[in-house]
Amino acid sequence: MIAFQGVNKWYGPYHALNDVTAQVRKGQVVVVCGPSGSGKSTLIRTVNRLEDIQNGRIEFDGQDVHAPALDLNRFRSHVGFVFQSFNLFPHLSVAENIALAPVNVLKKSRKEARERALQLLSRVGLAAKADAYPGQLSGGQQQRVAIARALAMDPPAMLFDEPTSALDPEMVGEVLQVMKSLARDGMTMICVTHEMNFAREVADEVWFMDHGVLVETGKPEDFFAHPRSDRARKFLSDLRSH
Ligand code: ADP
Ligand code: MG
Repeated sequence: MIAFQGVNKWYGPYHALNDVTAQVRKGQVVVVCGPSGSGKSTLIRTVNRLEDIQNGRIEFDGQDVHAPALDLNRFRSHVGFVFQSFNLFPHLSVAENIALAPVNVLKKSRKEARERALQLLSRVGLAAKADAYPGQLSGGQQQRVAIARALAMDPPAMLFDEPTSALDPEMVGEVLQVMKSLARDGMTMICVTHEMNFAREVADEVWFMDHGVLVETGKPEDFFAHPRSDRARKFLSDLRSH
């Protein structure tokens, strides 16, 4: 579903992605972890070309992301992307936020898009909030709306970049719960997160990055019990001592 082949990216002289090769199969959940600045955000942002690469190849759902004929805006709208910041439109209701791209990009009727928005809201546990405005919701609720908004485009896979890092601690669980239920329903996901319990419970694979290198990949039980590299051992012991 998602493939990185020999991906290299530099920010000026800084080698931010160093020859990354890895694949995510359909239905797989990958958790990407690693120290701050290791290239996790850069890696997942290359998938929808929020970051360009200097060499290598990336495929998403059979599509060469760098194909010259690619309609970038259309392509991006089908890559479900959830960021730390929710970026909902404050002047649109929750349902309108979710229906916006389906109406504008998929040319769905307003009625159809709203019905689907309501379904998705009940899926993320917010059926009662359809006509509320983002400012009336908690951070955790807004992030769940952002997930519903991404799902409304029927993405073949979802990418999460630290979706719970900006939330108050008591709201982290409700967002992770929604992500877990997506995973259970077979969604293909790459999740950048420091939530190692989520990784243990939900990930099929953990990818550990350091200094732009994908240092190791493995099943969570193997990665957490027997990290192979010194760098991963240090990362895990630093996490535990926090
Ligand atoms: P992570 O998400 O793992 O914290 P990032 O992918 O955000 O790491 O960043 C990887 C490295 O690339 C960091 O050293 C960061 O400072 C650098 N970097 C990220 N974005 C830019 C940019 N737009 N320009 C220059 N350097 C950047
Ligand atoms: Mg990041």
